[in-house]
This record gives sequence, C-alpha cells and structure tokens, in this order.
Amino acid sequence: MIFIAVVITSSLIIISPSTCTPPPEDPIHCSNSTTSCTITNYIGAFPDRSTCRASGAAYPATEDELIAVVADGTRARRKMKVATRSHHSIPKLACPGGEGGLLISTKFLDRVLSVDKEAMTVTVESGVTLRQLIEAAAEAGLALPYSPYWWGLTVGGMLATGAHGSSLWARQGGAVHDYVAEMTMVSPGRAADGYVRVRRLKEGDSTEINAAKVSLGVLGAIYKVRTLITNLVVYCQHAWDLRFTTATRSCSHIIFILIILINFHF
Ligand SMILES: Cc1cc2nc3c(=O)[nH]c(=O)nc-3n(C[C@H](O)[C@H](O)[C@H](O)COP(=O)(O)OP(=O)(O)OC[C@H]3O[C@@H](n4cnc5c(N)ncnc54)[C@H](O)[C@@H]3O)c2cc1C
Repeated sequence: MIFIAVVITSSLIIISPSTCTPPPEDPIHCSNSTTSCTITNYIGAFPDRSTCRASGAAYPATEDELIAVVADGTRARRKMKVATRSHHSIPKLACPGGEGGLLISTKFLDRVLSVDKEAMTVTVESGVTLRQLIEAAAEAGLALPYSPYWWGLTVGGMLATGAHGSSLWARQGGAVHDYVAEMTMVSPGRAADGYVRVRRLKEGDSTEINAAKVSLGVLGAIYKVRTLITNLVVYCQHAWDLRFTTATRSCSHIIFILIILINFHF
C-alpha cells in the first residue's frame, strides 16, 4: 500500500507541470479578421493531414447574437459548425465542409449563469470550460460527478462527443450528458420562422433532448446547459475532514486531492 502510494505520488509530481501549462491558442486562424479562415485541432493536424478552410468565423457573445448568426448563415445557405476555444477532438468534427462554410466559435459564450445550491445544479453557457464548471461548483461547496480528462474542454464539446470520465461515486454514470437537466439549442429554421429555431429542452419533457445532448455538433449550436452537480464534496469532507471546497484553486491542491482519492479507492 505504501509502495503504491509512493509510486502514484511520484507520478503525479512528474506529470503535474503539464497539468498546469497554459491553454492552447485559438484553433481558428483568419487571414482577414473573421474571413478566410482555417481551423485545426489542438495538436495542429487532422488525421487525414488536410487543412480545413471556412470562409468566415463568428464569435457570438450572447444568446441573441448566436441566434442572429445561425439565422444569417441559414438564410445564406452556408454550412455551419460550432468550434471551441481549443478543439480538443482529434477528428475534423468542427470543419463545416467546403470552403464557403462558417465557424461559430463559443469562445465568448463562457459565462457561468447561475448556481442553485438547493437544487444542486449549475447553469452555464456552452463555451464554459470544465475548469470553470469545477470552480463554480466548488464555490458552492459542491462537485461534479464526472470528470473527462482535461479541464480545458468545453461543456458544448464534452456533450457533443458524449465525453465521460471515471467517477468514483456517480449515481448515474461518468458521462457528462447523463447529468443534463435542461439545455438550449439554436438550429437552422424555416423562412417562416426567421431561418432559426430555438429549442429549450428539459429532461423528461420530450425525447428531443436525448438527440440534442450527444449530437457531434450536427443538429445545431448548444447555447446553454443546466447540469446536475453533487454533494460529493460534503461527503468527502465528512469522511476525511478535508476542506475540498477550495481544493481546485491550485495545482498542488489538485495533486493532493488525487492522492487522497486514489488512496481511498484502493
Ligand atoms: C467521439 C469522441 C468521443 C470522446 N470521448 C471522450 C471521453 O469519453 N472522455 C474524454 O475525456 N475525452 C473524450 N474525447 C476527447 C475530448 O475530451 C472530447 O473531444 C472533448 O469533449 C472535446 O471538447 P472541446 O471543447 O475541445 O470540443 P471540440 O473538440 O472543439 O468540439 C467537439 C465537437 O463538439 C461540437 N461542439 C462544441 N461545442 C458545441 C456547442 N456549443 N454546440 C454544438 N456543438 C458543439 C463541435 O462542433 C465538434 O463537433 C472524445 C473525442 C471524440 C471525438
């Protein structure tokens, strides 16, 4: 047991610097502000080594702006794909196809909108990162029941790909979409609807939400999500008398928590 703890501790100390490196640069590059653009993934090369080109990129910062971008793109019959600030997926998922497409970045849709401590839910815009989500929950003394592998991933990206993590005590599994209570999706619409359709989907109301949750970005742009969080922190505090609420604030704290959790798991 002591040997395992020492090995794990050493490994964590060795890998910790990479955990704390700054986030990658925006994967969208435009030669002329927001026109003539390319997008790549976080390693800078797609599996087929091709370059993905798009004729433009939009950076909505509010729900209304996102709705306007989707409506304009639909009216102009442009192919559109949502892109994130890091494009951590290796496949060409965010590439709109052709060269006249539009990239819709969620870079500025990055606000935590509310945390409901009673209901244990947090509502965020889809460009919020896993790190922001963890911090928002921790501020309320709560925690996420899932944890995909890197905290620079966005909520929209994790949902679209069905990303999951390992989860020691999760009630419903380790996938991010298993905890979505509500979400808003903005999709192309008919001319009669102003070329845009905004769906406000709630768990239990219809099966549409199941399709919207893991859609690989092909059904529309997710604007916001209300997701369940858990009282895992309180549970751990009772069990270990630790102050986990402040634990995500520095890398040393993260390493410390991992050691404790791994020891607990063994
Ligand atoms: C199929 C697949 C499964 C994966 N499973 C896991 C896993 O289980 N665990 C794990 O840790 N990692 C997993 N990964 C790797 C990585 O964690 C995910 O790709 C990650 O969730 C991507 O996050 P991102 O924010 O960088 O999104 P990106 O890579 O930029 O985007 C991913 C997809 O999501 C779409 N998208 C992003 N935001 C929105 C939005 N707001 N509205 C609509 N569509 C949007 C994009 O158009 C794109 O199609 C997986 C990758 C893929 C390709």
